[in-house]
Amino acid sequence: MAEQSKSSTENKTQLDHVIYSRDVVHKHSKATQNILNLCIDYIDYCKRAFQEGKEVIWTSGMGTDSSLFYSLGIIPASFTEIGRLCSADAVVLAEDFFQVPNETCAMVKSDLGEFYLQRGTIANRLFYSSKACEPYNVAFQLIEDYGYDVHVMDVGFGPKKASQERIDNIKKHYRDEYIKAIEWAAPGRYDPEKLRTELVFYNKIQRKIRTIFNLRAYHPTYIGSLPMMLLLMGNAHYFGKPLEYEATLDRLIEELSDLKPGEYHDEKAILCWSGARGQEFNIFEAIDEAGGAVLSWNIPNNTVHEFNTEIDPIDALVEFELGDLISGTSENASRYIIKDMEKYNATGVIFYAYLGCSFATIDIELKRKYFKEHNIPGLSLIGSFDVGAVTGQVTTRVRAFVEMLAKQHKESKTA
Ligand code: SF4
Repeated sequence: MAEQSKSSTENKTQLDHVIYSRDVVHKHSKATQNILNLCIDYIDYCKRAFQEGKEVIWTSGMGTDSSLFYSLGIIPASFTEIGRLCSADAVVLAEDFFQVPNETCAMVKSDLGEFYLQRGTIANRLFYSSKACEPYNVAFQLIEDYGYDVHVMDVGFGPKKASQERIDNIKKHYRDEYIKAIEWAAPGRYDPEKLRTELVFYNKIQRKIRTIFNLRAYHPTYIGSLPMMLLLMGNAHYFGKPLEYEATLDRLIEELSDLKPGEYHDEKAILCWSGARGQEFNIFEAIDEAGGAVLSWNIPNNTVHEFNTEIDPIDALVEFELGDLISGTSENASRYIIKDMEKYNATGVIFYAYLGCSFATIDIELKRKYFKEHNIPGLSLIGSFDVGAVTGQVTTRVRAFVEMLAKQHKESKTA
């Protein structure tokens, strides 16, 4: 990829936005530049590792599977990232070659197209949990014919209310599925102490990220909303480089701690971002430019919960999967978001889902209703995963929403 920084208005692709953020917006922060470099290099790094004979497996890149694979000496390549900075042709290929209907989620189509284009070059094994997403479940079956060894962890969501007997059965089923996954990925290589070490590392990383959240509340404009989202994206797969990722977090903590009170603390409308992580990167630029800053995050990367490192490590994976209360459509999730917003004085929330995602589009409707009842302003955005420029209409809506909150914020300060 030839890297060249274009001006803000010339930014066309996701990669352009990341490079612009690194070279122009965040010249003052080496740590932020490092985060963006880790992000840019992630999939290429996995490709180089695979070609050098290291083991790489496509996974969701979330806390449980990333920790498990690292403990087995395998680099987790997050399949949610294969399409993020890649080719604009992938979606078209999925529709034309695989005959995926136009209305299917563009993230699934983008991944499917990229898997086909990249076959044999990054990793030829893919692991996923069937609870993640129904369209993925179907799409991944299609790539089995193109050189991929696909292993499905056959599990569902844990019930919030159930008899103890049912909960015990579900936990046993999850445990059995993890053991099958280990046997598939690395027969005979499982070492509980290595897995425990990974879980301890994961917990340490989440604490460092929470420290950054807290420091950033005092200096919200030091690191923009886009690099913050990208930092969170790597909270479990560490962009394939755990130690470098940790060192980058340490450096960012240092940079933020060294700032004087009031530095990088322009008056901003504080926002919460809830839902998918967002592929249309100029939305994040629009938020920052219109006088906002996203300090509260409710995205799939769970930085709140930690693994229980006192119990058997496979049981800890199971507990973590079943105990996640910040995702899903439950009232718990909305209550959690409101509590987090209060912590950062956030006054508005952006709900984001990808076009064609039946799960998330209903989820944001439910949440929007809940937030309306609680008099919290919200903006629902249905975005696309296609690599390319965002429509002007979306950015106009974001700007109008953030400017309205920024105006209210200023008025409340002068009242
Ligand atoms: S956005 Fe929805 S449909 Fe698309 S991959 Fe994610 S969960 Fe699946």
